[in-house]
Amino acid sequence: MKKAIAPPPPPLAGNAAQRLAQLNTNLAAASARGDHPAATLVAVSKTFGPDAIRPLLEAGQRHFGENRVQEAQAKWPELRANHDDISLHLVGLLQSNKARDAVQMFDAIHSLDRPSLVTALARAIDSTGRTPLLFAQVNLGREPQKGGAAIEDLPELLSQARAAGLDVTGLMTVPPADREPSPFFALLARIAADHGLPNLSMGMSSDYDIAAALGATHVRVGSALFGDRVTT
Ligand SMILES: *Cc1c(COP(=O)(O)O)cnc(C)c1O
Repeated sequence: MKKAIAPPPPPLAGNAAQRLAQLNTNLAAASARGDHPAATLVAVSKTFGPDAIRPLLEAGQRHFGENRVQEAQAKWPELRANHDDISLHLVGLLQSNKARDAVQMFDAIHSLDRPSLVTALARAIDSTGRTPLLFAQVNLGREPQKGGAAIEDLPELLSQARAAGLDVTGLMTVPPADREPSPFFALLARIAADHGLPNLSMGMSSDYDIAAALGATHVRVGSALFGDRVTT
């Protein structure tokens, strides 16, 4: 914990490529401060169109996050046609009836949070032969408006996933916006370690450095890179 304490990095500035470079530098420094390998940056491009995404692609960014299956289906096939090494991450609530579409489109799903989705994803993975990286989402702040399993339901969810043949690789959380995030990140890291899960999806625009210092393997950064969203 001590090592995680550091002044926040200055706000990202300049054009998209410059902001990306600064973010990668800040991220590497924060991971190193906690003695962790550099976290993967997932650039959350929800609500932004191809014109906003392309400069980041040209600057070498390859991991992108979306929160809606339909929006991703509309946007990414064209962008992927020019770059076959893009990794797409679903960071939003997934309805069971969209599980198959999600498995086809995404390389990682960060929002596995309930038994019905375990069943739907297992079926979709079986029938498509695709195996996206799976994160179980935990609602550590017990916020009713947010997705994620309650902390006490997580062990059962993980064993259901295992029984269904799903390989859950890590945990994801979005801490309450009005609280200091580091205790939530530290807690998520401890729960993941208890379950032998190597990956941690945590940290957003306002706190990616704190999350990385506490062992995030994936940070999900939107507005700091793309600017403010008009809608979500
Ligand atoms: C939108 C979103 C992000 C990115 O949020 P920013 O604050 O814009 O960085 C990260 N994670 C999830 C789950 C999101 O929905």
